[in-house]
Amino acid sequence: MKKLEVNIPGKEYEVLIEKGILNNIDKYIDKTREIVIISDSNIPKQYINTIKPLLDNPLCLFVPQGESSKSMETACILLNSFVENKVTRGALIIALGGGVIGDLAGFVASIYLRGIDYVQIPTTLLSQIDSSVGGKVGINSKSMKNAIGSFKQPKLVLIDPDTLNTLDKRQVSSGISEMIKYGLIASKQLFNDIMSKNIFDDIENYIYHCVSIKKDIVVKDELDYGLRQLLNYGHTIGHAIEQYSNYNLLHGEAIAIGMCLMAKDCSFEEDLQKVLCKYNLPTKYEYDKEAIYQLILTDKKANGNILNIIMVEELGKGFIKPINIDEIKERI
Ligand code: NAD
Repeated sequence: MKKLEVNIPGKEYEVLIEKGILNNIDKYIDKTREIVIISDSNIPKQYINTIKPLLDNPLCLFVPQGESSKSMETACILLNSFVENKVTRGALIIALGGGVIGDLAGFVASIYLRGIDYVQIPTTLLSQIDSSVGGKVGINSKSMKNAIGSFKQPKLVLIDPDTLNTLDKRQVSSGISEMIKYGLIASKQLFNDIMSKNIFDDIENYIYHCVSIKKDIVVKDELDYGLRQLLNYGHTIGHAIEQYSNYNLLHGEAIAIGMCLMAKDCSFEEDLQKVLCKYNLPTKYEYDKEAIYQLILTDKKANGNILNIIMVEELGKGFIKPINIDEIKERI
């Protein structure tokens, strides 16, 4: 088993990575506790069937799969179910699923009865290497991604790489896009490995590597005032493109396009294109520039007229660059 400790003072938790860990979750979760599992309708039933008997009659709530569940409507349905089922402050929520479930379940955990505990059990590559760690939880408004949310660290993250066996290829690639981002901002070695090796021969290690990069950043800047913004490489434009596509592009696909735009004229531009192609990730998209600019203007990353963009000066070295917001037009 691989273990990481996220040492945010007063909110410390462990990230445990092990193939088959789902079969043993009763070792890590107190089964005598009142438990609510939140998952989505598309996640293979085998996972809930594995963990449910290991816990003491948990309440199981399912939401429709996909980004549209990161909404106020779905959050309200869950919160009302908690009330109807008399879920108490002592309860523990388990988020079993991808980033949508992690963001949504973590968000309702952060506001129900002014906050109750939750555990992340991420089942997509993207959620295992990125969204399950760091405590950013939230939902979208009608016109803005992640518009409503909180910082709420989980009590524990359990990662079972075996769950990736049932994930479709497109979703796997979407996760690899975020892995490539880690390489670009923090590890040339990781980038080169993704480019030249079969990372699935040693997936536990690569998940560990990504989570350790994220953990190091989050511990230094939990609330995203500075360093944590590095994790947004390609995301300012990427989020706008994701929304513009009406979420027809997966998160990682939109980020891939965002990264390509940020890498324009950089020394690694060609390598980035190659590695994205290796994983069937898109490198460009037809869009209306003004529409993308308008979406960027509503992005919460902007502070007045100043937008912090993330640039990579050489592979593995990301940095934050404040620009006047209209300068982003040169990139789109
Ligand atoms: P997702 O949660 O929509 O999952 C993708 C699809 O895979 C869904 O249809 C789901 O039902 C299915 N699925 C999940 N696990 C499966 C499995 N093991 N086998 C088969 N199917 C499975 O998408 P995602 O890519 O995991 O997450 C994207 C979301 O994460 C976006 O909303 C994005 O904004 C968010 N995100 C959050 C953070 C953060 O720090 N909070 C970081 C990055 C991304």
